[in-house]
Amino acid sequence: MTQIGFIGLGIMGKPMAKNLLKAGYGLAVYDVAESAVQEVAKCGARAADSIADAVKDAQVVITMLPNSPHVKTVMLSEEGVLAHAKEGTIVVDMSSISPIASKEVAQECTKKKIAFLDAPVSGGEPKAVEGTLAIMVGGDADAFEKVHDILLKMGSSAVLVGEVGSGNVTKLANQIIVALNIAAMSEAMVLAKKSGVDPEKVYHAIRGGLAGSTVLDAKMPMVLDGNFNPGFRIELHIKDLQNALDCAHSVNSPIPLTAEVMEIMQGLRAAGMQANDHDAIIRHYETLAGVQVRRED
Ligand code: NAD
Repeated sequence: MTQIGFIGLGIMGKPMAKNLLKAGYGLAVYDVAESAVQEVAKCGARAADSIADAVKDAQVVITMLPNSPHVKTVMLSEEGVLAHAKEGTIVVDMSSISPIASKEVAQECTKKKIAFLDAPVSGGEPKAVEGTLAIMVGGDADAFEKVHDILLKMGSSAVLVGEVGSGNVTKLANQIIVALNIAAMSEAMVLAKKSGVDPEKVYHAIRGGLAGSTVLDAKMPMVLDGNFNPGFRIELHIKDLQNALDCAHSVNSPIPLTAEVMEIMQGLRAAGMQANDHDAIIRHYETLAGVQVRRED
């Protein structure tokens, strides 16, 4: 059975690692947070005490880290994955990072005859726990085929989109669509409220038509409940939109609406709401119009 080194046991990495253990894979796990390592070790993983220890016997290394600088440190530093993994290892970085960084890391991997796939996910913690994430992958087709079964223990789909970096370009597209959908929903529902029409009735009237969406169905009930608990935090979405802006500027593809929603999120962060769910975008519109979109009795 394939031996896997798993690095990064946060909100997402922990349940993903547990699903691989349930499927019978041998796992060595590492995180700078010792408590996270111990929790996953209780489910049958070997607790590694360093990156080197996690990857030395692995055929596949999976990373699930916050952002590009963390991935570069874990992969490229003196104590990192590339310094200790065997030739022929396949590294699958499932973090949401800049596609530019993915390509840089992949280049270094090639020099060491290590394959690198960027494979970010969509679905959040509930789908990570269920093992039903949507996984979008960039990189070499042979390497993808070799890890496909492993990916399907963490997700319900894993699609090879193109060369290295394509996985993260796909994830950025996903994050742009989600952010702009929440902003559109917020603008429309605050208008309804200010016009004296019950936003909950508006939601039920339109959700089956062209304006209906997964985002609308996920976020509108939360807003009506006044529930701004994450979910997906504003500060993580800011990270993704910054990566989207950097990527867009590097290929001369302006994304003006993304820039606008980014500034709304920056305003929410300045007001101390960075740890709120991204449905808190509506609070910006509520402040502008002086109303609240909540369930009416
Ligand atoms: P998290 O902050 O909960 O977990 C990251 C983990 O990485 C932490 O346990 C941290 O200790 C560890 N880490 C950081 N630097 C390290 C290092 N140098 N060595 C070892 N471990 C290190 O983040 P998360 O919510 O699990 O998200 C991980 C990635 O998945 C992010 O890129 C995020 O954008 C993406 N993502 C998150 C969600 C979500 O809903 N939370 C959904 C989809 C995608």
